[in-house]
Amino acid sequence: MPLSPMMQRYMELKEKHSDCLVFFRLGDFYEMFFDDAKTASKELQLTLTGRDCGLTERAPMCGVPHHSVNTYINRLLEKNYKVAIVEQLTDPKEAKGLVERDVVRIITPGTVIEDDMLQTKVNNFLCSVALENNKCGIAWADVSTGEFNITFISYEPGLSRVTDKLCEIAPNEIIVNKAFKDASQTVPAYILKQLKSFEESSVFEEPAILENLYSRFESAKKISKKLPVIASAALWAYLGITQKNTLAHMTQLNVIENDEGLILDRAAVKNLELFRSMGDNGTRGTLLWLMDKTATPMGARKLRSWMERPLRDKERIEYRLDGVEELFEDYSLREDLLSALDEICDIERICTRVAYGTVLPKETVFMRRAFKKLPDVKALLEKTKSSIITNISNEIDTLDDICLLLEKTIKDDPAESIRDGGVIRDGYNDELDLCRDAIKNGQSWIAKIEAKEREETGIKTLRIKYNKVFGYFIEVTNSFKEKVPFTYIRKQTLANAERYTTEELRKTEEIISGSEEKALRLENAIYTYVREQLLQSIARMRRTANAIAELDGVLSLALLASERNYVRPAINENGVQSIFEGRHPVVEAMQEQSRFVPNDTYLDTSDNRFMVITGPNMAGKSTYMRQVALITLMAHMGSFVPAREANISICDRLFTRVGASDDLAAGQSTFMLEMTEVASILKNATKNSLIILDEIGRGTSTFDGLSIAWAVTEYVAGNIGAKTLFATHYHELSELEGTLSGVKNYSITAKEYGDDVIFLRKIVRGSADKSFGIAVANLAGVPKPVLTRAKELLKKLEENDITANQDTVKAQQTTLFASSNMENIIEELMAVDINTLTPIQAINVLCELREKAKREL
Ligand code: ADP
Repeated sequence: MPLSPMMQRYMELKEKHSDCLVFFRLGDFYEMFFDDAKTASKELQLTLTGRDCGLTERAPMCGVPHHSVNTYINRLLEKNYKVAIVEQLTDPKEAKGLVERDVVRIITPGTVIEDDMLQTKVNNFLCSVALENNKCGIAWADVSTGEFNITFISYEPGLSRVTDKLCEIAPNEIIVNKAFKDASQTVPAYILKQLKSFEESSVFEEPAILENLYSRFESAKKISKKLPVIASAALWAYLGITQKNTLAHMTQLNVIENDEGLILDRAAVKNLELFRSMGDNGTRGTLLWLMDKTATPMGARKLRSWMERPLRDKERIEYRLDGVEELFEDYSLREDLLSALDEICDIERICTRVAYGTVLPKETVFMRRAFKKLPDVKALLEKTKSSIITNISNEIDTLDDICLLLEKTIKDDPAESIRDGGVIRDGYNDELDLCRDAIKNGQSWIAKIEAKEREETGIKTLRIKYNKVFGYFIEVTNSFKEKVPFTYIRKQTLANAERYTTEELRKTEEIISGSEEKALRLENAIYTYVREQLLQSIARMRRTANAIAELDGVLSLALLASERNYVRPAINENGVQSIFEGRHPVVEAMQEQSRFVPNDTYLDTSDNRFMVITGPNMAGKSTYMRQVALITLMAHMGSFVPAREANISICDRLFTRVGASDDLAAGQSTFMLEMTEVASILKNATKNSLIILDEIGRGTSTFDGLSIAWAVTEYVAGNIGAKTLFATHYHELSELEGTLSGVKNYSITAKEYGDDVIFLRKIVRGSADKSFGIAVANLAGVPKPVLTRAKELLKKLEENDITANQDTVKAQQTTLFASSNMENIIEELMAVDINTLTPIQAINVLCELREKAKREL
């Protein structure tokens, strides 16, 4: 038995879209069949039913109602499925034979445009990667906002720079060419795991993709590097296949130079808690949470992108800072702008729905309200002087014509959808007004006709009635039959009455019943016209939206600065980093009650490159180091910073490495992960980088760990010369000050009061003399007997340590030597020239000495 024609159509479409779940529109439902139905019923917990399909067995089927389809699609996208939407293209009521059906759009995780499926303040990127001979082009686009970027990376084998970049972009979907897929086989799984899964796509091989790209984006022809162009062409082709739409809102291709910004490595983004907190992975307590004072969704996304991609060019930083300063200085301008921006909706995403032809009536009202504020915003900016704000002001098109059109055409409170009418404003179109009059006044017209006919005929019982089959009619009981004028047209005869109509009644009836249909048609036509006008203005609206986003971003930074008492940092290119009374922005904000103790920082390119920071647990070492990193990052965003005074040197990369105990990386030994991070820092840092090291080598035995920490310090301070803050429990490292140039010791102090310890939170020169471990254990509530025993043991250990006052590696090791060969070993140790040793040599020497020492025990 053959399949029924409808199911044949289904099979055709399914075959063409075998990688998707096909949502097949049947009346008010989207249905899935066969394997799709089984998958969807499992993933969405829907009841699996069956449908006759022509075959002997019924086709497995399950479905979802069309009005709530987005919820279901969203759940499938989260599980990385793609969904092909099949719509009915002809009205089933009017269709003669089979209703025509086709795929109208393929929704994938990276191509969502529906508001209820998106996060307002976060971009939803689709990314495309083209790889060839250790060179890589990346393109990424947010269809929901129209943003489209490309960049170029040349990299060392191992893909780490590429994966770093992908992590920074954080796409929801990645398509890659074959070479990338092949290369990715060699990348450790734990690195790949941080990326959203990627899929090799055949679009890279399609012949016409470059031409298609060029025909929309002229500027792409001028891009000299091949791979970014291929990546963007593939992305554009993929959008074409999935969206089946001209994407009129995507008008610009931005080329992003990969080395143009301050590069944050993956670990820095995580450890500095920029977007996600370490504790619960939430947003509270993150830097973005603190800094985001934006009024519009576009502004929020812009600010986020500034944090994701901080600047590195002094001029561009100052350009932004100038704007922040100008608004910072003017309280009333700030307040006025804020209240104007508050009214501005997500123009970017509404533009997208204009491009898709799915813009809702109420969204056009939001647009109108937003556009109405534009002249105010422009007027407010008139007197500003900074070039960034002047430029923003010039970019704002007040869109008066669009605003006027929307005002004239769309009601203030339109119906949800144009389908049922109730969208177009009274007074815009005469015909429509007439129809509406007819609908509203129909009843009174009929009443008037009834009264008139009664009067003219003298039939007191004459009535005008209505029923569905005959419409309106005049009913005259048989006793008055003779009085009926000859102009009456008979419609129906009943036992005791006759029913008639008249020319006038028929016309009126026509007007009334036709009116509703006509009004709907007119409303639809007018709305379509409005949509077309909007479509033609998309580029203007998007430019304005982008200007508003920038303004909102700058305003947000100014509001933050004034609210939290930040200062404008000076920016320099001579390598001096000096912060006077710096504060940790988030810790300060979270602990409103207790006072945050400010601290100074001084780093330069010569004697003060490397801070070895010691001090007890809980003293505030991590807070201090992160505060330096955050202040540096904020300055590179063009933000004011939490300090009394700050002079920040331009930095190329920011690295962090945080103690093993703080990491919960599944499937990877924490020590291995730590060493991988250290390796990446040592390979990639330059003298212009800032490195935060919060303990290294704690995941292994003491000597092992100490030697690694020591060697790393030597390498960073000696070979790389990056500005580094290194917090450590290895007090031995303070020996390096004086022997290794650039290294300076610091400690964060605490005072002991009996068994208690008081944290002063002040960073001072010199290394800490005590660890206060037992005092902290006391604070944490470790039982008394354990503390007492620990103190006894500590005392014993200190007594046994014959060189307890010399806080060096040598001292540590000598305590272990008891025999007469001790002298030889010490001599050997003294002969080591620390300044010329490579880290590997250092470890070798250390191991050798240790072996010898072991034999002496
Ligand atoms: P460490 O890294 O030395 O173990 P942390 O940096 O984690 O210590 O600091 C411990 C706690 O001390 C922080 O959570 C914070 O609440 C508080 N703290 C740190 N620095 C300061 C400061 N400068 N002023 C006030 N409180 C601070």
